[in-house]
Amino acid sequence: MSTKSLAFDATTTTTCGYCGVGCRLEAHTSGGAVVAISPAADGPANHGHACVKGRFAHQFTRSRERLTTPLIREPGAAAGTFREATWEEAVAHVSTELLRIKGAHGPDAIAGLASSRATNEDC
Ligand code: SF4
Repeated sequence: MSTKSLAFDATTTTTCGYCGVGCRLEAHTSGGAVVAISPAADGPANHGHACVKGRFAHQFTRSRERLTTPLIREPGAAAGTFREATWEEAVAHVSTELLRIKGAHGPDAIAGLASSRATNEDC
């Protein structure tokens, strides 16, 4: 399928989130949804190519279960109960809690986890 013959509302350059290669992709949207992906010709890691996952596995962007806003679980809240928060509030909350844990238990009480499915910027 050639994406050049199809009409899209917008095309946004992005980085594939499926693995650590970091292929540069063009996300084509219509009606506010991703409807096609093509590899970016100028991608320094992929030089105009993309594997089948990066090229075609974009259905998850339309999942009704996809989180679109940060969620915070309040102390004492029932398991699985969260409230929506702004990104500023969420980042401030994480910062405050990390400092609290470090102060109470020392720096070895904190660990980080990165994923090959995250971009360098996400990590
Ligand atoms: S397109 Fe394929 S090889 Fe490239 S980053 Fe995505 S999953 Fe990895």
